[in-house]
Amino acid sequence: MSCIFCMIKNGDIPSKKAYEDDNILAFYDVNPQAPVHILVIPKEHIESVDCITPENSAIVAKIFEKIPAIAKEAGITNGYRVISNCGPDACQSVKHLHFHILGGAQLADKMA
Ligand code: AMP
Ligand code: ZN
Repeated sequence: MSCIFCMIKNGDIPSKKAYEDDNILAFYDVNPQAPVHILVIPKEHIESVDCITPENSAIVAKIFEKIPAIAKEAGITNGYRVISNCGPDACQSVKHLHFHILGGAQLADKMA
């Protein structure tokens, strides 16, 4: 399986890291859509929100526990948006669960 985010996690593709621990990696999006645009991933390969189960959901809680500190550390002071695109209609382009943190400016009031 060739998964670009697993390759980033393994250090096979470089990334600008924002946070890392044993279970989670956060790195800056290569094509930012806001002044601060960070992706937070579980190190475990989970394909999408559709693939969250009782067995693997603890990592999602861990990610959300860390998001405020990741946002603050990145300089976000006035709010941010957390998005996870799931499946074709949401334009999910990388099939490894990830949460976008978008901030650093006033964002659009519509999400889609
Ligand atoms: P999504 O469309 O929700 O699946 O988001 C995938 C995101 O991954 C996009 O915002 C891309 O810009 C980003 N992306 C793709 N390749 C890389 C990479 N090598 N390093 C950092 N971000 C990436
Ligand atoms: Zn992966």
